[in-house]
Parts: sequence; structure tokens; C-alpha cells
Amino acid sequence: MTKLLFVLGTRPEAIKLFPVIRLARMLPSDFDIKVCTTGQHREMLEPFLRLFDLRPDHDLAILRPDQTLSGIVAGVLEGLDPLLVAERPDWLLVQGDTSTAMAAVLAAFHRNIPIAHVEAGLRTWDLNAPFPEEMNRQVMGRVSTLHLAPTVWSRDNLLREGVPEDRVVVTGNTGIDSLRLARESSTLSKDVSVRYPSIAGRKLMLVTGHRRENFGQGLADVCTAIRRLVEENQDLAVVFPVHLNPNVSEPVRRILSPAVATGRLILDEPVDYPTFVSLLCAAHLILTDSGGVQEEAPSVGKPCLITREKTERPEGLEAGVARLVGTNTERIVSAVEDLLNNPEANAAMSRVVNPYGDGHSAERVLAAIVQRSSSGFDLVGRSRGPSLL
Ligand code: UDP
Repeated sequence: MTKLLFVLGTRPEAIKLFPVIRLARMLPSDFDIKVCTTGQHREMLEPFLRLFDLRPDHDLAILRPDQTLSGIVAGVLEGLDPLLVAERPDWLLVQGDTSTAMAAVLAAFHRNIPIAHVEAGLRTWDLNAPFPEEMNRQVMGRVSTLHLAPTVWSRDNLLREGVPEDRVVVTGNTGIDSLRLARESSTLSKDVSVRYPSIAGRKLMLVTGHRRENFGQGLADVCTAIRRLVEENQDLAVVFPVHLNPNVSEPVRRILSPAVATGRLILDEPVDYPTFVSLLCAAHLILTDSGGVQEEAPSVGKPCLITREKTERPEGLEAGVARLVGTNTERIVSAVEDLLNNPEANAAMSRVVNPYGDGHSAERVLAAIVQRSSSGFDLVGRSRGPSLL
């Protein structure tokens, strides 16, 4: 029996750890699992915990008004340490690159608890983009015990940084497992135009945005592009589930509200995952700075325009189904209009490819952990030996 402690604090962590937790729960004689939430993004996380039936065993409740990044990291370190002592897990599991995940890794390292990092090895090598996620991943790359890399590219990044080969396993991205499960599920709406009647018969552009480095002028320029596109293209409809961070929602609603009157721009609250997957499937194109959405778009065969200058997910660019468009208004308008009006350009980017995963990554994640558990995998070059707890 292997005891796993999952620590998560945001929406994408819930989406991408859900398939692993679900599978571990299906194997109760192999795994004893505990789930701890930190509260980094409580309001956006909770509907996902309910949807996925994740039932946390512990909640660190770190959210404070005007929470700083240092406040998140300090809260997780302080809250998690006594829990690690009490639970004594065989493995700590974290996903991705959030402040929650990075702080949890440090806390486990201090207690000599083996760490499995799901979605390891993504890099831009620019500590400012994405901020602070690139720093988080690089720290996690130094400290984790087992690196579960989604792709060969991410594995090679880790090997180049000196991580021993036997500590890296290519698993695919567990987000694609969730996408597969959602598409197989009966909760998926077959017709999103019931929820959004004005998109019927139009070309749908699905928009998301929340990257910290785009706050301010970058996001304002993206919004100006969206407004122009809606005003100038009668066959275009836009659905934009707006992130709850006021640095996003305030400028988005201020700049875009005038265009809502056209009836072809919908500024929604963040939507539940089945609705979002239905929107992905209905979209003509996607405009996003989200990491997870960049992975999902090619799996449903939709062109993805990325409102960033760099991405740690180059596989979609290489496959020709994603493009970096940055935040410049003219560049975005021209890239979107090309996909709206040029059927050849659209067809070239609308191929279903799966560079990020085949939908069965959770099995590889758990298999890698079981294999390391039975061989008494060492932590930092030492034999596992007596626990420091
Ligand atoms: N998503 C969702 N509802 C929304 C917007 C996004 O369920 O209104 C999902 C989406 O399918 C993807 C994930 O949230 O799996 C992306 O989360 P986010 O963009 O917040 O984080 P990132 O992936 O950039 O870390």
C-alpha cells in the first residue's frame, strides 16, 4: 500500500490531478490517498472539486484579501509542514507550476518526503514569462524526486539540466485524460448555442486570459483587438469566460462592455469544465494565454492563437496548429481575420493532433510511482533510510 498526498490550489491543478486521483481511488488495495487544498484560488477551485468529487481531506485555507505571492508560499509552507508530520505520506504529488505546487515541494523536501511532479520539464528559460511560474518549475525541477514529463521535449529539458535519466518518465499530459473523460461523459452539452443563443450560425472565437505578465497594457491591447474584431466581422461571435482576478475582470469588462450590445460578444463568468469543453468543440478558433487550453485545442482540432511572446509548450507550434500572436492589437486582428476568412489557413491549423497526450497519462503516472516505491527509490542521492519525520 502506497500512501499518496495530493496538494492542489487552483483550477488547472484540479483538472489535471483529477484523472490520477480517480484512478488511484479505483485501486484501494494499492493506494491510500489524501487530498489537501491550499485555497490559493478558492472561488474558482470549488466548483471543480464538486464536479470531480475530489473531497479534500485537508484545507490549508491560506487565502487572504490582496494575497501576495510570498503570502501564498509562506502560508503553504507553514500550513503543510504539520500535516506532513501527521500524515507521513510515501509520496507528495503536485502538478504544474503554481506557487502552491512549488511551496508544497519545498515543504516535502524539508521533511525528506519523496516528491512526484506531474507535468515536469516545461521551460521558457525566461524567469519573467510566465511569472512566477517559470521560477516555480525550475525550483521544482531541482528538488523533485520523480519528474513526470508530459512530452519528450520536456523530458529532454530536464536531462539537459542534469536530472538523472532514471528520475524522468514521459507520461503524456494528464489534462488530456480529463478532456477524454469529459468528452465521453453525458454531462457534455452537445449544443452550447442553447446557453449562448447568439452564437448559432456564426463562427465562434473562444477567448481566455489570465497571465500575470499580460496585466495592464498587454491585456488592454488584446481587449481592443477583440472589440474591433466583433465590430468589424458580422459573422463572428465571441465567448469570453472572464477570470475572477480583478486585474483581468476590471479591464476586460471596461474595454469590452460597449461591444456586448452587438449581441455577438458574451462576457461570462468562468464556466464549468464540461461547458468549457463543449465551447472548445464548438469553436472555430481559440485566442488564449492559458497553458491548459493550448494543450486542449489540438486534441479537439481547433486553431490556437496564443496571446504571448513565448510558450513552454512548443509542440503545438511545431505541429502547425498553434501560433504565438503576442498582445499587439494589429497582429491579433490580422491573425484572427486570416483564420475567419481564409479557409486554407484555417484548415491547415484545424487538424486533430495529440502532441500533449493520448488520454491515458494517469496510468503511466501511477505505474512510475509504484515502480519507484517498491525499489526504495532514494531522495537526494541518499538511500531512503529512516524518515526524518
Ligand atoms: N477552463 C474551464 N473553465 C473556464 C476556463 C478554463 O474549465 O472558464 C479550464 C480549461 O479547460 C483548462 C483549464 O481550465 O483545462 C485552464 O486553466 P487556466 O487557464 O486557469 O490555467 P493554466 O492552464 O494557464 O495554468
